[in-house]
This record gives sequence, C-alpha cells and structure tokens, in this order.
Amino acid sequence: MLEFEHQKTPSTLPQGLYIVSTPLGNKRDITLRALDILSAVDCIACEDTRHSAPLLQYYGIKKPLISYHDHNAASKRPVLLEKLQQGARVALISDAGTPLIADPGYKLVAACAPLGITVFTIPGCSAVIAALSIAGLPTDKFCFLGFLPPKTAGRRTALEAAKHYQMTLAFYETPQRIVETLEDVAAVLGNRQVALARELTKLYEQVIRGTVAEVLALVGAQAVLKGEMVLLISGAEDAQSYGEAALLEMLKKARETQSVKEAVATVSGATGLPRKEIYQLALREGV
Ligand code: SAM
Repeated sequence: MLEFEHQKTPSTLPQGLYIVSTPLGNKRDITLRALDILSAVDCIACEDTRHSAPLLQYYGIKKPLISYHDHNAASKRPVLLEKLQQGARVALISDAGTPLIADPGYKLVAACAPLGITVFTIPGCSAVIAALSIAGLPTDKFCFLGFLPPKTAGRRTALEAAKHYQMTLAFYETPQRIVETLEDVAAVLGNRQVALARELTKLYEQVIRGTVAEVLALVGAQAVLKGEMVLLISGAEDAQSYGEAALLEMLKKARETQSVKEAVATVSGATGLPRKEIYQLALREGV
C-alpha cells in the first residue's frame, strides 16, 4: 500500500459527480487529484468492483463500490441520480483509462445537467491519447472511431465512411479480431502507414509500425497477438501532397477512355481524395 497525503477532507468536497480517470495498466499512472477525490467521495461507481478493488486497495482507499456497467446502467442510473440529488459526492471510474471513452457513463453525465447536478472532470490516462503520443503518425488532427463493428461487412462499411478523412484514424481493437481488421483495412483503405500500440504502460508495451501489409505479415505470423491494443492508421492524402500535376496526369489518362464523371471517380478511388476536390480540378483545367 502506498501512503499519500489527502488534500481535501470529505466536508470540503463540493457535491456532484466526479468523472475520474484511472490507470491503463501501470497502477502509478493516476493523478494526485484523482486520489484526493476518490478518498473524499461518498461512494465510487465502477464497471467491475472486482477489477477496481485492487487499485483502490493499493492506495488505501476504502469506499462503498456500486457496479455501473453496460448491462445494469438503465436500472442503476436512477439510483445514482437520486443519491446525487440528495447531495452525495459520487465518483465514476471505469476498468481502465477515462470513463465514457468507449466506456459507460455518457447517459449518466447527460442526465446530470437538467437535474442541476454538477459534473467534475478529473482527467488522466486514455489509451487513444497514449497511443497517439508514441505512434509517430500525424497528431495535429485525428479521428477516434472507437471499436469497429465485429463482422467484416459492417467493418468495411465503417472504414469506407472514413476513407476520405485527411487525418489519423484511431480505433480500439481486440487480439481476436486484429488480423481480420488489418485485412479489411488493406482492402478498403489501401496499404497505408499504421501503428499498432499494445499493452501500453504494461510490461510488454510495444508499438508495431509499418505499412498495413508489413504489420499484417508480422501480426499474422503470431498464433495470437495478445493484449489490449490501439490501431492507428494514417489519413487520406490531401491534394497538395499528391501534387496537382500528378493528379492532372491521372485525370487526363482516365479521360482517354472515360467520361468526366467516371474519370473523377477513378482518380478519387485511386488516391482516396474526395471526388469534389478532383472534380473542381477537372473543371478548372478543362480536362
Ligand atoms: N476508457 C478507456 C480509455 O480511456 O482508453 C478505454 C476502454 S475500452 C472498453 C478498452 C480498450 O481500450 C481496449 O480493448 C483497448 O483497445 C484499449 N486499451 C485499454 N488499455 C490499453 C492498453 N494498456 N494498451 C493498449 N490499448 C488499451
């Protein structure tokens, strides 16, 4: 057990709901403020009490735990809201990282504002941010799309929808599905640069970087690549990085056998650039 100094006593902590981030794996990745709050609240709502108990025990925090997960949220939400309306200080934590980020809590938070209940953030770890910070892919813009659908058809539709996003794409993935997902990424998005970040903050933390084909070859060669993982995929190129001259060349080639509309679709499909952008170029250059 680790000793730490509590900054706030229960009597000074304002009433409300506290959304508290907890570690992704390494128990020490928790903020001092998170420990202050967890020590001061009246109760802690968590996904799995058995999962959260060791963390709380490590920091010497003894509080009533209430389970709040996807399968009981509808019945537990009114109970928590009633406690909050009566003036309780309630913390919400998840199994790992930041609650609400691919985890329960959204409906609880949404229900608080109309009831005049204050919601406080106690920020900290989130796997998507941790992965982005070490992947080596552009981070100026990114799109987090949570978990992809479990079946190929749904997964390919979801990837198709993100095909033109000119920013890094971030997904949560499971060891059981990563090979199929990478195959679908190759089929829909092409051989882009990817980074597969696994077991972050844990003993076997690893980032596998390369093209989709390279990472697929590596991951496919293992019986099962174990652990929790975040898949990051480089975004679609923009017109500038292709260079207008190259795009014009492609358009002119396509126009030898195709209508303007077809040629625009061909170039858009080959480059991943939005049709609108290619069409404007075709119009401007009179191709
Ligand atoms: N709320 C969490 C957060 O803020 O990151 C995410 C919860 S979501 C149910 C769990 C998924 O997050 C895992 O399947 C995995 O994709 C990702 N994840 C969680 N811990 C991770 C870790 N240590 N390394 C890599 N990915 C992790």
